[in-house]
Amino acid sequence: MEQIYLDNSATTALCAEAKAAMQAAMERFGNPSSLHSLGADAALLLKQSRAAVGEALGERFLKDGQLIFTSCGTEATALALLGTARAKSRRTASTVLTTDSEHPSVERNLALLEKEGFRVVRVPTRGGVLDMDVVRAHCTADLFMVSMMLVNNETGARYPVEEVFRLARAASRDVVCHCDAVQGLFKVPFSVRTLGADLVTVSAHKIHGPKGVGALYVSERILKERRLVPFLAGGGQEFGLRSGTENTIGIAGFAAAAREGARTARSSMPRMAALSARLVDGLAGGEITVNRPPVAAPHIVSITLPGIKSETMLHHLARAGISVSAGSACSSHAAGPSSVLLAFGLSPEAAGCTLRVSFCESNTESDVDALLAALSSGLQSLVRMKH
Ligand code: PLP
Repeated sequence: MEQIYLDNSATTALCAEAKAAMQAAMERFGNPSSLHSLGADAALLLKQSRAAVGEALGERFLKDGQLIFTSCGTEATALALLGTARAKSRRTASTVLTTDSEHPSVERNLALLEKEGFRVVRVPTRGGVLDMDVVRAHCTADLFMVSMMLVNNETGARYPVEEVFRLARAASRDVVCHCDAVQGLFKVPFSVRTLGADLVTVSAHKIHGPKGVGALYVSERILKERRLVPFLAGGGQEFGLRSGTENTIGIAGFAAAAREGARTARSSMPRMAALSARLVDGLAGGEITVNRPPVAAPHIVSITLPGIKSETMLHHLARAGISVSAGSACSSHAAGPSSVLLAFGLSPEAAGCTLRVSFCESNTESDVDALLAALSSGLQSLVRMKH
């Protein structure tokens, strides 16, 4: 049976360029910290890879320490949030502004900081719209850090991160602004400069690179003012900010995927938007509701089924060779309805009947049509089974 993969927000297939780069990197096996020629060769590969990921984020000329490779997006975010908190001097402000629909890698680390005495304000995102009145109310001199995602991984909502960072800086010169851009890279146009961010998280496996590699962009200001400290003690790799011998093979794959993503972004973004529009149009007037934020990334469509559990439909679709997800892959370990969907405004029952469809540029119109047909047959057979 032909497999139709529509779960690209969970992870993406490796692109040919990443595979080839990783194969080549396997031969360049030296430790980048070694002083002999094999080490120097691995260090060169690392340097070129760093430049490629930096360029994908709009930074052509990275200074030392501005791009830190990590083991995943989650680790990059933990470094950003915990590393900033650990670097805090006692006297400074202590409010952290975030949203009520962040990925667990942000939410759970901020919950840890909350236990340590930080005041964490979670701005509502009902309907996928960030409540700017709440943002404004909390942009005061007590603002220590802002952590806000660019694109929500369950609803596709694109939050106005640039505006929030601008308001935050106007209120507090010393504020540190972090953006989780894992779902935004090559889906919506941005650079670290246009965001106005100090720290930006990205992850390779969401852009057709390998799993187990992420990166944290760090602004010059943060480095100069020593506003970030490592939380892994060790050999001092990655400019002292992330100890541990670098995953050169994965990093080479990340860089190749970043080059390819940057090369094709201009055509892939409208392509994904067209696929989403085809799905939304195909569902119009039917029983399935689309949870569409007013400003959304092109690749994610969240849909709620009429009284059918998401898992039930998910298995029906899987039998037709179609892969989607119930909520997000990361929340599939959590018990109960997705807190992100509740924050969006869905009832717990509706959240339990919600599926996420997520595209990449190589999906086709016929993939969408096959999904629409399978949803329609599921609506008939599965509803009948309930009655
Ligand atoms: N942030 C968002 C918005 C995500 O969707 C994900 C992955 O699902 C992550 C962070 C975590 O990235 P990683 O899987 O590389 O740890």
